Amino acid sequence: MNTWFAPEAPTCLKTTSDRDFPISRVFCVGRNYAAHAREMGKDPDREPPFYFTKWPETVRNADPADALTIPYPPETANYHHEAELVVAVGTPGFRIPQADALAHICGYAVGLDMTRRDRQLEARDKGRPWDVGKNVADSCPTGRLQMVEGGGHVETARISLSVNGEVRQDADIADLIWSVPEIIADLSKYYALRPGDLIYTGTPAGVGPVVSGDEITCTIDGLPPLTVRIGPPFDG
Ligand code: MN
Repeated sequence: MNTWFAPEAPTCLKTTSDRDFPISRVFCVGRNYAAHAREMGKDPDREPPFYFTKWPETVRNADPADALTIPYPPETANYHHEAELVVAVGTPGFRIPQADALAHICGYAVGLDMTRRDRQLEARDKGRPWDVGKNVADSCPTGRLQMVEGGGHVETARISLSVNGEVRQDADIADLIWSVPEIIADLSKYYALRPGDLIYTGTPAGVGPVVSGDEITCTIDGLPPLTVRIGPPFDG
């Protein structure tokens, strides 16, 4: 290859197997729990699912053994946690029937969709793209990917998030407005899904701000947990 500079190696997620998972693309689902839609001032009446994307390098391994620290990002005064079930695509597919959706999933993880809430709401209310609110460096700390082989699928499980030991988000995956198979069927109408794609399936109610020094822990029953500390402000 004759390139202007050496391309970066792909960002990888650690897994419960001895092989890492190279990330292709990151899709996120907006407002997928009714109580969270209401806390954001929206009607949760099963509007069609909608999506935004993040760069793969926003994902960081947040296995508790790694003691991950992420910086507090620039240009926000309201950096919010969003605990989410993350789905990893292992088999390609376009216009995937809902009944076949689970066969395209190779793993599940606990993930965060950290958000510059001030910037996101400003963009939302002006009808502008959400990129600077959502596609933030280091904003997707994610636990170890539990492979379906051995771990099975996640349909009902408690999801919870604590900041410095205080529970802020506590719900069940079964409360998703759009289930994982419904999301895969819908998203794959727009994009041919491929191995390496991650889908962050939306956050339950209880989102809120963090500050430097906070420690976030996040769990989904049956999946490896996630721990991340918020470090000093980003300084390049
Ligand atoms: Mn989210």
